[in-house]
Amino acid sequence: MRYAVLSDIHANLEALRAVLADCRGEVDGAVCLGDLVGYGADPIPCIELLAERAVALVAGNHEYGVTGKLALGWFNSYARAAAAWTAEQLDVDHRAYLGSLALTALVAEATLVHASPSRPDEWEYLITAEEGFDAFSAFDTRLCFIGHSHRPAYWSLGATGPVWGSGAFDIALESGRRYLVNVGSVGQPRDRDPRACYAIWDRTARRITIRRVTYDVAEARRKIIAAGLPRLLADRLENGT
Ligand code: ZN
Repeated sequence: MRYAVLSDIHANLEALRAVLADCRGEVDGAVCLGDLVGYGADPIPCIELLAERAVALVAGNHEYGVTGKLALGWFNSYARAAAAWTAEQLDVDHRAYLGSLALTALVAEATLVHASPSRPDEWEYLITAEEGFDAFSAFDTRLCFIGHSHRPAYWSLGATGPVWGSGAFDIALESGRRYLVNVGSVGQPRDRDPRACYAIWDRTARRITIRRVTYDVAEARRKIIAAGLPRLLADRLENGT
């Protein structure tokens, strides 16, 4: 059994299509860790593709923002402008769908959550070694997949001591160890690599592998500018920041 694990799509249809094409025929399903919308120009096609393809989805802070569950004052000015624009694009059905997403979900031996398994609705960033290791007491499954920082990373605890790594990785899941894995961002990578980022979770081979996929950045940028969204949201796609 193999899953594609996707997070932080951010209404970037070009990146989402490229990722789905990259794993087509290789995976049994996709799971999504939230932030389907916000920043990009294609919220509705991205919601529809993910609703159709994903076997499990959880809400991110952008779903909470556009459905009124999180005050937009929480967001920085670019995210706030994008959330307000996105909220205008959504019809009643798409808004209700995003509003129906839970904060956590379970798929096999994995917990799915957007930001942190401890207090998922406080949208904490887990970046450092310490921040990741501190979160292990907040989930009781063997694996926990997260997004939110838009940077791939993993933390592992077991009898032979803690292990932490960031950037691209390909890890073998050892018995007796637990793992917290950030799968990076499909639609707005922030690790200075502009390619779309996601993970393949191979339950049979017991591996988790980060994949990077080239997509049509120019087209995604063009649509963001044409929609009147902040120009910075287009420009940051070019250099992955
Ligand atoms: Zn995000």
